[in-house]
Amino acid sequence: MNISDAERIASVLESLKYQKTADMADADLVAVTMCSIRQSAVDRVHGLVQKFNEIKKKNPKLKTILTGCVLKKDKKIFIEGFDHVIDIRDIKKIPELLGAKQIIFRSFQSEAMSAKKNNLLSAPDSYLDITPKYSSDFSANVPIMTGCNNFCSYCVVPYTREREISRTAKEIVSEIKNLVKKGYKEVWLLGQNVNSYKDAGTNFPKLLGLINDIQGEFWIRFTSSHPKDFSDELINAMANNKKVTPYLNLPVQSGDNKVLKSMNRHYTVAEYKNKLKKLRKKIPNIAISTDIIVGFAGETKKEFMNTAKLFRDVKYDMAYINKYSPRAGTMAAKLKDNVSKEEKKNREKILTDILKQTALAHNKKLVGKETLVLFNENRGNNYFGKDQYYKTVKVASDKNLLGRLIKVRITETQPFILKGEIV
Ligand code: SAH
Ligand code: SF4
Repeated sequence: MNISDAERIASVLESLKYQKTADMADADLVAVTMCSIRQSAVDRVHGLVQKFNEIKKKNPKLKTILTGCVLKKDKKIFIEGFDHVIDIRDIKKIPELLGAKQIIFRSFQSEAMSAKKNNLLSAPDSYLDITPKYSSDFSANVPIMTGCNNFCSYCVVPYTREREISRTAKEIVSEIKNLVKKGYKEVWLLGQNVNSYKDAGTNFPKLLGLINDIQGEFWIRFTSSHPKDFSDELINAMANNKKVTPYLNLPVQSGDNKVLKSMNRHYTVAEYKNKLKKLRKKIPNIAISTDIIVGFAGETKKEFMNTAKLFRDVKYDMAYINKYSPRAGTMAAKLKDNVSKEEKKNREKILTDILKQTALAHNKKLVGKETLVLFNENRGNNYFGKDQYYKTVKVASDKNLLGRLIKVRITETQPFILKGEIV
């Protein structure tokens, strides 16, 4: 989402005739899209302020803007280090802040704008209707909603991004049609909880259907999904709309019911597992990943072992394991952060070890098989990409494969990377 926000800021700045510099030291303006999920991310912005102060000694013209996910209390602190601190929803005000004339932003199309008038959930004149300066010419980030109403007890997002708003389906479909026409191979539908997307009669499963109907060869991916809102209708939409790739990130956060309750997640481990069971029945080869917080406030060893058990049971293909970081202002900040740093590290390692085994077991089934890969990175003649299952695949090639969807035969595998050759 931050990358997507940065793409919209880049578009605003381009309208003001700014161009990207290779080195921050040469810039007239630096805009930072901040993340507040963990304290370490906030600390990195403090580090940037120091850097700006150094640059300003040689380049006093430099102006700095801070936006993205910023907590109110941090806004007060960062206003000292930045020239402007603005809410992400206010980036249309950047020209005014910089003393430029107010400009009309290129937005997707007027048709979608008129549809928006009848829709209470979609914010009128939202920053999401700015046409972004896409950072890739084959894979696009398409936010479909922003904000969050869930208030998980550890999380700052409802405080930094405020309440949920959805874009109109019309506007989203129009954006994706344009992308596909330009040759984009993949769209990422983004939102803090895409499952609560709502535009008049269109919910998220229906939106997937509308996007799937767009003519052309492209992949549909989405993130994040909240398990409590992961419905049978969505499972059917994933199974029936062939452009939706067989990959799902369903963040469980913990495998213990007491911890889940304390996290305010509104589902039990059994309910979560049952949803995955139904999903795997409909889409047998689907790859599944999750997000986990280890060492949440009060998490006992026994409670953590329930998460390890869940890992063994579900057999994830991938997991994003985070060490709990208390965030001021959240409900969980009132609880004692009583799991030591070492123990959080230890719990992370236990889960990573299980994950390595389950991911490797899934990957081994792909050896000798063919899979489609969208290449997005290279180091010399080694090209890296993601296949339908969102697994990293490496091949050697003399030809430039970047941005291409190519059939690859898998020849060998490690837990987190597959090697292959072009068919
Ligand atoms: N909306 C998504 C999560 C978005 S935040 C969901 O409902 O799952 C991305 C991830 O950051 C979360 O899944 C969580 O694992 C992690 N995270 C959020 N707050 C955290 C905190 N205070 N400490 C550690 N990890 C955190
Ligand atoms: Fe944060 Fe996701 Fe929970 Fe919203 S649903 S509060 S973004 S973890």
